[in-house]
Amino acid sequence: MKYKHLFGPVPSRRLGVSLGVDLVPHKVCSMNCIYCEVGKTTTLTIKRGDYIPLKDLMKELSEYLANEPELDYITFSGAGEPLLHSGIGEIIHYIKTEYPQYKLALITNSTMLCEKKVRNEIKDIDLILPSLDAASELAFRKINRTHPKVKLSEIINGLIEFKKLFSGEMWLEVFLSPGINDTQEELANLKEAIMKISPDQVQLNTLDRPGTQTGLEPISEERMAEIAEFFRPLPVTVIAKFKSRNKLSSFDVNVESVILETISRRPCTAKDLSEMLGLHINEVNKYISTLLKDDKIVAEEQRRGVFFCAK
Ligand code: SF4
Repeated sequence: MKYKHLFGPVPSRRLGVSLGVDLVPHKVCSMNCIYCEVGKTTTLTIKRGDYIPLKDLMKELSEYLANEPELDYITFSGAGEPLLHSGIGEIIHYIKTEYPQYKLALITNSTMLCEKKVRNEIKDIDLILPSLDAASELAFRKINRTHPKVKLSEIINGLIEFKKLFSGEMWLEVFLSPGINDTQEELANLKEAIMKISPDQVQLNTLDRPGTQTGLEPISEERMAEIAEFFRPLPVTVIAKFKSRNKLSSFDVNVESVILETISRRPCTAKDLSEMLGLHINEVNKYISTLLKDDKIVAEEQRRGVFFCAK
């Protein structure tokens, strides 16, 4: 059975075995982050809408969950901003009523949290993983390249207000990029803002594999450790690198070979692979990360995006 809006379950660094739910089509987003692993934003918008019919989502969920799969989370994520779907509150209510045994997580870029209505719609989830990469306008615009109407101060305020209302866990992710948001001044601004938000965890991340912009570098492990130290007493962790394949229960070696064979014939982007192999882009990305770490493939920036070639 093939699902259009569900993907996985994928083994996730932070969420264990997580069934992904796509609420918006590929790259409908309010940001166009330089580090985005799923490609350039094609629809940069802050307009909420019924991007995917709720009845289709509910049908797929009911079919998939009828087999009572073991999951750590059902996660609203995907290759765009889930809070742009105006029906997210209804979907949350549907899952919480029909399948109360499952925990719900949401990965969001935080832009829509400035709306009180949105905060109320999602207050019954179990875990929110919002992003905040900068607390100065300059760094914010540089790294997140947002829709022009998005305001940083409103995002920070939205996060503060949501944390007050929310009884679940909040793990705030900060993506660090050298020369943009890792200077002492930027880090001090970020720390001040995060203290006000008061998340349950602060998770520091950096580039794992090519983003959408050429020449982007990761932060070194030593510098990440220093930055983590600077953020204390906030409850900060550096997100561990992706675990090895034998630790991932749903890592399919056949899929890995098919990806490797495909890119041995000709270089492909993650999106090409996703379309050719009928796999969700997030799933393709997990395999690509492992192949890059195993040094079996290389990434090359070209005009149409980041291409992967066999070594
Ligand atoms: S990283 Fe997330 S928020 Fe940023 S452009 Fe990609 S999908 Fe949008």
